[in-house]
Amino acid sequence: DIGYINGRYIGLNELAVPIEERGHQFGDGIYEVIRVYNGKTFMLNEHLERLIKSGNAIKLQIEHSIDDFRKLIHDAIAKSGEKDCCVYLQITRGISARNHLFPNVPVSISLTVKQIVPLQKSIRVNGAAAILHEDERWSNCYIKSLNLLPNVLARQTAYEQGCFEAILVRNGMITEGTSSNVFMVKQGKLYTAPLSRHILAGITRMAVKKICKQVSVDFIKQSFSKEELLQADEVFITNTTSEIVPIVTVEGQTIGAGRPGEVTTKLYHKLQQFVADCKE
Ligand code: PMP
Repeated sequence: DIGYINGRYIGLNELAVPIEERGHQFGDGIYEVIRVYNGKTFMLNEHLERLIKSGNAIKLQIEHSIDDFRKLIHDAIAKSGEKDCCVYLQITRGISARNHLFPNVPVSISLTVKQIVPLQKSIRVNGAAAILHEDERWSNCYIKSLNLLPNVLARQTAYEQGCFEAILVRNGMITEGTSSNVFMVKQGKLYTAPLSRHILAGITRMAVKKICKQVSVDFIKQSFSKEELLQADEVFITNTTSEIVPIVTVEGQTIGAGRPGEVTTKLYHKLQQFVADCKE
């Protein structure tokens, strides 16, 4: 495991960030989490495009090009010696005396490369539990911003109730999870919320969309209510670190047969194949 900040590699526990850093004091920045399988980055271009989109949305003046970031990430992975790992990349508005107004200083770029912690086997096999939680976040959740307090609080509430994830509800409709996109299967068709300001455009969501084409499962971008979610045949969540995670109970209510469903399992296996075929 290694770290990097503003041009130098460091140990993960080394002191590196001055107190008056805007990520530290304001959460004034953005990030990405990128999966590396067998030494190869997975959907790196898509991650970097989302990073630039997030940066533009918060008016970050980034001098670096996508190619600069690609090189930085590949160099860091090589330096770490890891093969199956995650890259966390963060950009903040830099180091300057605390003031809400934008400073005229370079952005701070930091990253970590850490070995992947595999999903608990029992969750992979038996599925996980989720709670429903009010979506208390702001209106621009398509930005992968460092401000994660509502996500942290909702996820902790789930954990304290013995659950793996909190599925967020805005005006009665499912948006996404605290760190995942949410899907339901109903009569063989797959449903997920359409892209909007209220959800993050997940890279794994994008991969699932591609895979659905390969296995002839309809991928329907349509919002659904919490009642519809509870009536689903199957539910799963997706993200970069856990891929596809079956959800078998929501708010203590059993979903479908109470075990990972047929479509979920098929998509999970197909995703493994998709990852193996991905050459970057
Ligand atoms: N929504 C939120 C709020 C997230 O934090 C994440 C994880 N980054 C996702 C969705 C899933 O995105 P991805 O598949 O790109 O990891």
